[in-house]
Amino acid sequence: MNLEKNIIEKFKDFQQFPDRRLLKSIGDDAAVLKISEKKALVISADSLIENTHFLRDQITPEMLAKKALQVNLSDMAAMSAAPKYLILNLALTKDLIGNWLNKFTKSLKQVLKIYQINLIGGDTNCSEKQLLIDMTIIGEADISQIKYRNQAKRGDLICVSGHLGDANAGFYCLQKNIKNLNLIRAHLKPHAQVELGLKLGKLKAVHAMLDVSDGLLQDLENLSQASNCGYEIHLEKLPISNALKNFCKKEGLSPIDFALAGGEDYQLLFTVDAKVVSRLPANVSVIGTIQSAAEKKILLHQKPYHLHLPVFQHFNPV
Ligand code: ADP
Ligand code: MG
Repeated sequence: MNLEKNIIEKFKDFQQFPDRRLLKSIGDDAAVLKISEKKALVISADSLIENTHFLRDQITPEMLAKKALQVNLSDMAAMSAAPKYLILNLALTKDLIGNWLNKFTKSLKQVLKIYQINLIGGDTNCSEKQLLIDMTIIGEADISQIKYRNQAKRGDLICVSGHLGDANAGFYCLQKNIKNLNLIRAHLKPHAQVELGLKLGKLKAVHAMLDVSDGLLQDLENLSQASNCGYEIHLEKLPISNALKNFCKKEGLSPIDFALAGGEDYQLLFTVDAKVVSRLPANVSVIGTIQSAAEKKILLHQKPYHLHLPVFQHFNPV
């Protein structure tokens, strides 16, 4: 278990009062509060911290505003919820108040309009050294369509949307001063799978879902622990972009390692009844199957795969 999970564990039993509205608290991509017979609010928070998640001179205020929102939208997508409201907490250093902040706010306003999200509150503070953008997002969902990460069933197919590893490789390029714009864009300008999340919510055969924010290996482990199941993954089936393949070929690196470790893909990882495989949306890859709890296999052409270190992560992970 990593340090972050150890810390979160301390808060797991903080629901000290019975509350029939609370359908889900800590442990999934978002909390779920029942508001009527059929509807629920879905609530989650995520922060971007300077020097942990980004370097100030490598990302524009416009990109940062959009990225902070996308990171939060991804958790809504993972629950099959439609985002509706935002609460914004800022800790700003003095030099940012002015031009930088104007660009940030203008960009955030634009993107919130596109997604039809209203900003309803927040908090603003001065910070001595580092910039912090912290968002709480509130969405709405049909209770019957919400997908949780603890519902995977033995025999389910394991699926993932889009491509994996691009953002992680983009982060690597920034660190090493390699100009690969496609990969760097994936890191700086992520795109949450909100539409796909809503679509998958309507499919009863989709059993469990979460977003890939910590890297496939970690999020697969999150899925497996929550659902008390194992998995068999076939790495030759991982969706790897041409951009990542070409980059890795040139640099003598493994695209699989970028796809497995690290993170910030903001794709959806979900399990589905094998019978409906033909009805899955395009842009979805089947990468394995759910097994019984004791069985965890990561195979490349049927042989066990060992990650090549280093595993790329944020600057300063908890
Ligand atoms: P995700 O798996 O979506 O990346 P996290 O790993 O950030 O989510 O968090 C896992 C769960 O722990 C979530 O339900 C989140 O709300 C909860 N959580 C994280 N940090 C805290 C905290 N400091 N206090 C209470 N709950 C927390
Ligand atoms: Mg998540």
